[in-house]
Amino acid sequence: MSEKKDQEKAKVTLEKLVSLSKRRGFVFQSSEIYGGQSGAWDYGPLGVELKKNIQGVWWKEMTQMHDNIVGLDAAILMHPRVWHASGHVENFTDPLIECKGCRGRFRADHIDPKGACPTCGKKDTLGEPRKFNLMFTTHIGPVEETASTIYLRPETAQGIFVNFKNVVSSSRVKVPFGIAQVGKAFRNEIVTKAFIFRTAEFEQMEMQFFIHPKEEPKWFEYWKQSRIEYYSKLGIDPAHLRFHQHGKDELAHYAINAFDIEFLFPMGWQELEGIHSRSDYDLRRHQEFSGDKQEYLDQETQERYLPYVIETSAGLTRSVLMVLTDAYEEEVLGEGDVRTVMHFHPNLAPVKVAVMPVVKKDGLLELAQKLEMDLREDFATMLEPTGNIGKNYRRQDEIGTPYCVTVDHTTKEDNTVTIRYRDSMKQERVKISELVGFIRNNMKNYQRGQ
Ligand code: ATP
Repeated sequence: MSEKKDQEKAKVTLEKLVSLSKRRGFVFQSSEIYGGQSGAWDYGPLGVELKKNIQGVWWKEMTQMHDNIVGLDAAILMHPRVWHASGHVENFTDPLIECKGCRGRFRADHIDPKGACPTCGKKDTLGEPRKFNLMFTTHIGPVEETASTIYLRPETAQGIFVNFKNVVSSSRVKVPFGIAQVGKAFRNEIVTKAFIFRTAEFEQMEMQFFIHPKEEPKWFEYWKQSRIEYYSKLGIDPAHLRFHQHGKDELAHYAINAFDIEFLFPMGWQELEGIHSRSDYDLRRHQEFSGDKQEYLDQETQERYLPYVIETSAGLTRSVLMVLTDAYEEEVLGEGDVRTVMHFHPNLAPVKVAVMPVVKKDGLLELAQKLEMDLREDFATMLEPTGNIGKNYRRQDEIGTPYCVTVDHTTKEDNTVTIRYRDSMKQERVKISELVGFIRNNMKNYQRGQ
């Protein structure tokens, strides 16, 4: 058992996360060999697993744990009228200010429009704010003409609204019920920044909950609480989460009330998820623009009405940054000995169990190989074949593997192995025949630091 000599914790910076992500294969810069593409990032072998695991926990929370929420996977490309109806063509804009000196572009609400240019420092060069629409446009079909203009969706929500009637008529759902969706969204952000925090291409996890208008206060409160509590399932420190209520001037064009859940990112408190009360704005607008009635008929009361909607809208790629931030620790073990460890919740860890022989010889490598193969059915595993235990532990700590299983000479005699916990570095002896149940149980009851 290793003693922790020092509990000092180094502050995590974006630079450290970018560097670890590249070194270990979580996130790479898009098109790096061509100098990189701003606003886009690629998820490497471990990053894609982490992202899928976060998505899996969210999906389970929404669809499996609620009997009144169903899933959907709508196309990214939608009829252009959708975006006229939703208000995005008209309103989905940011105020843009350009510097006449260096041509730098800024969001007017992020700088002092009367001050000096934040890039070149010149005074009196900042122009008047103008509206800049964040939607990417492209063309569908062989002819580039206005009639063929199509948008890359800036949110997944509209795919849900236009399928409201399809879902009602094809499934057993009754108001109140929700539709959940995960998918890509695109925004031509004036400034993309902070690693994967604000990007042009990103993923959202959204759920629209359809309710009777009278029940708006009840459900808004329910989803506010439910969503903040959910983050404990990702193992996030509650002290790093808080609510921010939108003021009147902050509300989006469709919202009557909105709270953000903010997380303490390396660059400070920032939005992670929005909980929006959208009234019947979207269904009403689609009804108006399409001419197709969107009303819901309550079979019991025979009341016909347009349901109100409470939306929960979380960034998936932004959640990856949250999880990386919260998990990162540089633990000082001794003079000049720093252990970098990612304290991922075991449900999120890209690799759950690493299996290694204490030495490569005496048939121990083969034994470890066999054990790793046997565990694959139950867990995401990795074989560490080198026999260099110290180095293997450190590498697995850095990619956040919660359990390292070591095969040694005693294993050959009594079929037991050593299991070593990532957080505490404690070790225990476990029978191979009981290993799967043992790890499962441990994952279920995981507490950070164990
Ligand atoms: P902001 O005001 O910061 O531009 P927003 O309030 O418009 O963001 P929403 O439209 O509420 O954001 O989007 C819901 C969620 O989608 C956000 O909480 C965030 O997690 C995620 N998201 C939005 N824009 C981006 C982006 N450019 N890159 C990554 N994630 C994003």
